[in-house]
Amino acid sequence: MEKMLILLKPDGMIRRYSGARALKSILDLDVKINFFKILKPEKSFLADKHYGEHKDKFFYENLIEFMSSTELAVIIIESDNATEKVRNLLGKTMCEKADPMSIRGRYGTTKGINLVHASDSPETAGREVNLWKSIVKIEDGKDYLGDVLNYIKKYEDFPMIDSLRYREIGKNLTDGKIAKENAEEEITKLLMKETDFSENIVKTTTHAIIDNILLD
Ligand code: ADP
Ligand code: MG
Repeated sequence: MEKMLILLKPDGMIRRYSGARALKSILDLDVKINFFKILKPEKSFLADKHYGEHKDKFFYENLIEFMSSTELAVIIIESDNATEKVRNLLGKTMCEKADPMSIRGRYGTTKGINLVHASDSPETAGREVNLWKSIVKIEDGKDYLGDVLNYIKKYEDFPMIDSLRYREIGKNLTDGKIAKENAEEEITKLLMKETDFSENIVKTTTHAIIDNILLD
């Protein structure tokens, strides 16, 4: 049995319905839930520890800006071939390139704003699970599956905006058809329809989304 780390990223938190759907699809893989908690890790933990391997990449600063913009759902699961199963379900890193039936292809917001993080191999999984266990406490006998089911139940009836709307705004922005401020306003407006987060928090995430769209 393999343990692995899964995170709902800020877009998966703000876009309540999509985040709930992603969790539901993961549960449908018949995995065991060893841990579930909503928390906001220190920015330095994300930057130096969790994403330390990406320090030299062109997307690194944006990734940290994005990932530290809201609280995250932290999930540790256990299953045979966990990483292979979950990564297949997630699809490719970039939403537009991911299979349209995969989680990122279907629910991912735009480009690298892809809703869910998941360990990419058994080795990475071992490292990431140990790392996150250094900042969370796994309580014996706690019904973490029940917590995930409650989370899904709470958010699965939230209003949903199709991801294509976000991708269209992104394309208009990179094609120079709309100004950055307009794109920012439009994305915030859509996100606010999908969420119970405050507009201030949503704006911080929108900022990171815009920067991600303009990365290359
Ligand atoms: P994955 O999350 O699929 O394992 P990586 O580990 O390569 O992907 O990258 C970590 C995260 O950095 C991605 O999930 C995505 O949010 C972001 N990212 C990676 N590559 C790009 C890119 N070319 N443009 C924008 N964001 C990216
Ligand atoms: Mg990765």
